[in-house]
Amino acid sequence: MSDHGHHVEQTVGPKIIAVSAVHPRVRTIQIERPEDEDTTFVAATAKGLGITIKHFAKNLFLPLRKLTTRAKTGAAVAEKRRNDIETVQYPEEKVVYPERFRGLHRLMLRDDGAVRCVACMCCPTVCPAHCITIVPEESDSKSIEKRPAIFEIDELRCVVCGLCVEACPCDAIRMDTGEHAHPVEDRANAIETKESMMARGIKSIAKQGGEGPNWQSTAKNPQR
Ligand code: SF4
Ligand code: SF4
Repeated sequence: MSDHGHHVEQTVGPKIIAVSAVHPRVRTIQIERPEDEDTTFVAATAKGLGITIKHFAKNLFLPLRKLTTRAKTGAAVAEKRRNDIETVQYPEEKVVYPERFRGLHRLMLRDDGAVRCVACMCCPTVCPAHCITIVPEESDSKSIEKRPAIFEIDELRCVVCGLCVEACPCDAIRMDTGEHAHPVEDRANAIETKESMMARGIKSIAKQGGEGPNWQSTAKNPQR
């Protein structure tokens, strides 16, 4: 067919009815519409339902695979069988977090149960979210200069970067609890206190002050 006498070359694609004499690339095409019975989408709906039923049957009858669940400490405690359904029945069922998952903070303890932190202020200095508040006080112990009277972390502002843990020179703060920050109704309840973080704490096996003679004996007797 032609428009203004132009010959129409039919190529692959929609049927070309006419071509403009002024702009040959401007064409009138005819789109093949589906027949009326195909526009009801019955076939497509049946196909979709078939896929859904296939997934349902697979999850119902195929062999179950094992899933290791974790305790609050992050340690693997039990193996539970489940199918391929992606929905996790939280909190009864929990996904396995990677080893390096950073959970809620905890403050580590000394052998006598006292807080291990010496209020050196390294962690609030390095914290990019400025969410650590420490008020130091003098320590009772003659070998320890300071300890935190107040140690608070605003978990709503914390970006879970772990820099506070990296910066601590004496293994006093960790994020290895495997616990998420708890949901709260009041922003003030999202603030972790020294007491709440010590309650999650355990005794650190790291030697306070590091290996070797302490600095006082070394200073008095440099040969040591
Ligand atoms: S994890 Fe990062 S943002 Fe959170 S308290 Fe530690 S340093 Fe601050
Ligand atoms: S870096 Fe460690 S010792 Fe220093 S204030 Fe923070 S938790 Fe305490």
